[in-house]
Amino acid sequence: MRPHLSWPVRILTASAALVAAATLVPDASAAPAPAGGVTVALGGVTRAVTAAPYPAAPPAGIACRTLVARSVTYSCVIGRSVEGRAIVATRQGNPASRRVLVVNGQMHGEEWPGTLVVDQIRALAITGRATYQIWTVRTLNPDGGRIGRRRNSHGVDLNRNFPDKFLRMSDSGPRALSEPESAAMVRFLTWVQPDLVISLHGYSTSVDTTGGGARAAWARAFSRAANITPAKVVSCSGPCHGNMTDWYSATSRVHGVAFTVEMPRSSKVVRRCGVPGRPASLSTIRCSAYAAVYLAARLPA
Ligand SMILES: [Zn+2]
Repeated sequence: MRPHLSWPVRILTASAALVAAATLVPDASAAPAPAGGVTVALGGVTRAVTAAPYPAAPPAGIACRTLVARSVTYSCVIGRSVEGRAIVATRQGNPASRRVLVVNGQMHGEEWPGTLVVDQIRALAITGRATYQIWTVRTLNPDGGRIGRRRNSHGVDLNRNFPDKFLRMSDSGPRALSEPESAAMVRFLTWVQPDLVISLHGYSTSVDTTGGGARAAWARAFSRAANITPAKVVSCSGPCHGNMTDWYSATSRVHGVAFTVEMPRSSKVVRRCGVPGRPASLSTIRCSAYAAVYLAARLPA
């Protein structure tokens, strides 16, 4: 486990030059990955990256394939919902980099802005020459998302089903990780071990600084960049039970921290985007996508 204490300092001192700006040309004819490396398409030329990819081969329960769609080069089915819908994580950026950001777009099916943020991230030109990799999960709750329902098809709030301070309640499920969706996310995060996880929700318009330390420092950095304020401790009317960000940050025993963003309801609000080098007037959706990439470029080496 790498220490996180230096992260806030790094946030303040990292150079904007770390942001990758190269353009990837989609190449549907990408060759299969060679042993010990992966194949990426750069500038229309398919070539092998000799550095070993990170993470290593997926564990049982996760099935991956190379894919070139815009700048997405790798796509994994990390599990399936109660109704059997695929839960998909995709990767952009440098497949050999160990600086890893994960963005989860939706956990509660009636909260949709995060899915649009993921769509925006996937549309950005983040190439194999980036200094980081970004994984996005558009929805962890495809059954609920399809019909705008908060819970999964067992009536469980997935953000009460993770193994951190789990408490059996009416919507928590019978036990921690009883649900295939939450189990899929634990399987995925344990495999990838991202430095940082951004969990997108709605709609109270805030960024959660619960936990303090590096976790709160990253949350504040996102708040400033995405101009989603305030950055504050968001309570669960008492201790939170079974939520994903607490589990990943505090008790997962794997590398990294996680924080929650409560997106505003509207996707059309044009506001002051705080990401350097980007237009100030952007929708919250687009600004949040840029903010996620901005943070990824500042992850510790
Ligand atoms: Zn939510």
